[in-house]
Amino acid sequence: MLYSELAETFDRLESTGSRLEMTSILADFFRRTDRKDLRTVIYLSQGKLHPDFYPQVLGMADKLVLKAISSTSGASEQKTEALWVETGDPGTVAERLISRKKQTTLFSEELTVDRVFKRLTLIENSGGKDSQDKKIDHLSNLLHDSGPLEARYLCRTVTGRMRVGAGDMTILDALAEAFATKEDRPSIERAFNITCDIGLVGEIIANGGMDAIRSVKVTVGNPVKVMLAERLPSIPEIIERMGGRCAMEYKYDGIRVQAHIGKDSVRLFSRRLEDLTSNFPDIAQSLRTHCKSSEAIIEGECVAVHPETGFMLPFQNVTHRRKKHGMDDAVRDIPVRIFMFDILYEGGNDLTSVPYGQRRKILEDKFAIGGMIQISSAKTIESAEEGEKFFASALADRCEGIMAKSLSEESVYRAGSRGFLWIKYKKDYQESLTDSFDLAVVGAFYGMGKRAGKYGALLMAAYNPEYGRFETVCKLGTGFDDAFLDGMPELLDGGKRETKPASVDAEMIPDVWFEPSVVLEVTAAEITLSPVHTAARNIIAEGSGLGIRFPRFTGRVRDDKLPEQATSVDEITEMFRLQPGSSPDQE
Ligand code: AMP
Repeated sequence: MLYSELAETFDRLESTGSRLEMTSILADFFRRTDRKDLRTVIYLSQGKLHPDFYPQVLGMADKLVLKAISSTSGASEQKTEALWVETGDPGTVAERLISRKKQTTLFSEELTVDRVFKRLTLIENSGGKDSQDKKIDHLSNLLHDSGPLEARYLCRTVTGRMRVGAGDMTILDALAEAFATKEDRPSIERAFNITCDIGLVGEIIANGGMDAIRSVKVTVGNPVKVMLAERLPSIPEIIERMGGRCAMEYKYDGIRVQAHIGKDSVRLFSRRLEDLTSNFPDIAQSLRTHCKSSEAIIEGECVAVHPETGFMLPFQNVTHRRKKHGMDDAVRDIPVRIFMFDILYEGGNDLTSVPYGQRRKILEDKFAIGGMIQISSAKTIESAEEGEKFFASALADRCEGIMAKSLSEESVYRAGSRGFLWIKYKKDYQESLTDSFDLAVVGAFYGMGKRAGKYGALLMAAYNPEYGRFETVCKLGTGFDDAFLDGMPELLDGGKRETKPASVDAEMIPDVWFEPSVVLEVTAAEITLSPVHTAARNIIAEGSGLGIRFPRFTGRVRDDKLPEQATSVDEITEMFRLQPGSSPDQE
C-alpha cells in the first residue's frame, strides 16, 4: 500500500472534529488496507511503530528534521528555520517546502507503507557516534520520494507530533465497524485490554474475525491494562454497596507493578506500561524464586521499607528507585517489598475471568511468602464496625487506607476498567471533602511579583476518554515550592506549543500551551459548577462545566501515570454528585 493513501486519510481525520466521522473514515480505510499492512497502519496512525509497552520511542529533534528538509528541498537552512520559528511545526515546514509530488524516475522508488515503516525503524534504532547523521539520511531518503502531504506526516511522526485523533477508543470503534458489529465492540475492547497491543488486535480481527478475537488470552510478556477502583465517602456506604459482605485489603502507598514471571525471566511493568524491571531487579529475581509455578502474572504494590526497622515508608522513598543512575546503591540503600494483591495468570490459565475469592486463594498457594515477597493483608468483613477496625489497623500499619473487594461470583478482573467491584477508601476522605485528583498540565501562566520570569500558575485538565480530550478544571497556583517553580520549564517545556493542542478543550487561555504529558496530584476543597472550565460541560447544568475550588499541588508528580490516566471527567462528575448538597439533582 502507498504511504500517500495513509497520508490522505490522516488529512481527512485531521479536518473533522466529529468522532463518528473519524470512525467511519478509519473503518473505510482499514477495510481497504492490505491485511499485511494493517498492523503497521494502526501503529502509524497513532504516531508509533510498536505497542506502548515497547521500550523504544521514535524521537527526532526538530533541528535534525529541519536539516533533512533543507537538504531534500534545496531550501536554505535559514529559510527552513525561519519557517519553523513562524509555524512551530516541522510537518508544516516540510509540507510548504517540499511542494511537488516527485515523478517516479530511475533514481526514486515508490513510498510504500512498508518502506516507511522500515526506514522509521532504522531511525529509531540509530545509535552511536554518528547517529544524528544517520537519522538525517534515513529521513531524507523518505522525503526525497514524498509529496507535500506525505512530508507533513513523516515529519510529525518522527518528532512525536502525530495527533490526528486516532485514539485507542476510536480505532477500536473503527475495527468493529470494519470487521464486526456494534455488539462485538466489548469483546474487541477486552482483547485490547488484555494485550495492550492495538495493532495486534487489528491484525487478529482482520484475519480471524470475532472467533479469533474471543479466544485471545492473557499472555506472559504482554501487559494487561490494570483494573481500577471506585471510591465512596464512608465505610458503611462501602459495606452497603457490597451487599453487607466483602473482602478488605490494606491499601499500600507505593508503586503498582504488574510482574510477568516467565520460566527464566521476569519483566515488571508500571501501570503506564513502562518496563520497571531495571528499577526493581531484586524484586524481579525474588519473584522468580518464590513462585511455585513455571509462569504467572501477578500484581502488587512495591513499597520502600526502613532498612533497620522494616517499617513501611511513604511513597516518595520508593520513587528513588525510578532514577536511572546509581541503581546498585539504590537497591542497597532503599530496601523494597512487594505486597502482592492479585494474580491474572498462572501455569497456562487465564485467571481474569475467575472470581476474586478464588484468585486470592491461587495467589496464596502459588507463592512462598517471605523476605521481600509479601502478600497484602486481607480480611473478610461483614459489618461497618469490622470495616472501621480494619481501616484503623491499616492506618496504624502506615498504609494510606483500604481497598474493599467484592466477594461475589461476578468479581472478575476487569482489565482497564474502573468499577464498584473494588472500592477504595483513604485517610484523606476523612479530612477533606474530596479525594485528591491527578490532573494533566495543559497550559501555564507567567508569574508576577515574586514569580516574575517564571511560570506562576498552571492550567490543569481532567481526561474525557469518550472524546479522547482533556477538559480543564482549574488554574493551579498553590503548593509549589521554590525548587518546583524553578524546575517547571525543564519538566514542561518539551511539550510547549504555540497554539492550543487538538486534544485540549479549554476556554481559559494560558500564556503557553502544553501537549498533555505531565500529571500532577492536586487536592481541593470542593467541586463547583464553573462558567469557564470545560470538564463535563452541560452534563450537570446547561452552559456550565465543573471546576475545582482552592486547588493545591501536593508535591507529587505522578510520573507513573500517562495523561490519559489522569482523573477522568466521569470521576469528577461522580465526586460532584457525592458532595452533600452540591448537585442540582440532590434534594
Ligand atoms: P488510586 O491510585 O488512589 O486510584 O488507588 C488505586 C491504587 O492503589 C492501585 O492502582 C494500586 O497501585 C494501589 N493499591 C495499594 N494496595 C492495593 C490493594 N491491596 N489492592 C489493589 N490496589 C492497591
